[in-house]
Amino acid sequence: MNYQEKELIIFDLDGTLADSKSPLDNDMADLIIELLKKRKVAVISGGMFIQFEKQFLSNLPASTELLKNLFLLPTTGTRMYAWKDRGIEKNSAELSAGWHEGYSENISPEDRKNIIKCIEEAWVETGFILPEHVFGERVEDRESQITFSALGQQAPLELKKAWDPDKSKRQAIVNILKDKIPLFDVSMGGLTSVDVTIKGVNKAYGVNKLRDFLNIPLERMLFIGDEVVPNGNDYSVKEDGVDCVNVSGKEQTKEIIKELL
Ligand SMILES: [Mg+2]
Repeated sequence: MNYQEKELIIFDLDGTLADSKSPLDNDMADLIIELLKKRKVAVISGGMFIQFEKQFLSNLPASTELLKNLFLLPTTGTRMYAWKDRGIEKNSAELSAGWHEGYSENISPEDRKNIIKCIEEAWVETGFILPEHVFGERVEDRESQITFSALGQQAPLELKKAWDPDKSKRQAIVNILKDKIPLFDVSMGGLTSVDVTIKGVNKAYGVNKLRDFLNIPLERMLFIGDEVVPNGNDYSVKEDGVDCVNVSGKEQTKEIIKELL
């Protein structure tokens, strides 16, 4: 793979640029800033935009010159945000200044209700005992995505890491849900989470939107994620034909960025 040909570098966030729900470390922030000076950069993560602000944007300088090269796709590519200079009209008052929404593929309210019910049933069917203490919400309605987090959204990283190291628990719930809601995409997200989106609206969908928006062919993109494995939430990008690197964590991502620079 020739890194020099890649115009757009796309990253997953949790497990790839930062630890789960944690901010970028200083070295990573510096590398991203250097990369933004030379290439276009996109981040596609299961989290919501507010999570991007906390983990990612808060560690970058608010420089228009840098940010116009950055594209943010929260909730697994079901939405896209670009910097104001990119020609998308301001269309959402809730967004922080400067970021404009390119699209949002929302699930209907009835379907969201049904998905939440199916997630609860699926969990019971796995037979796994869920820990009684929950850190924040266990099932979160993100409009364009429903996310199940076994220990709750805010669970400490160490607990999350220990909960399903071989992915068997998430795999079990994914398998049951795929049968229950065949019209939706179901994938493993973070260390303890499973994400549901409209069928075909996944990270690959986001990548194709970027291709059309930026007029960059898939061959000139590189995707870096920690779940580029079957049933992982990064896998659709590989299936779409984009060059992907499956990393073990942020240290490996830093090495790849250094090569790109
Ligand atoms: Mg990840």
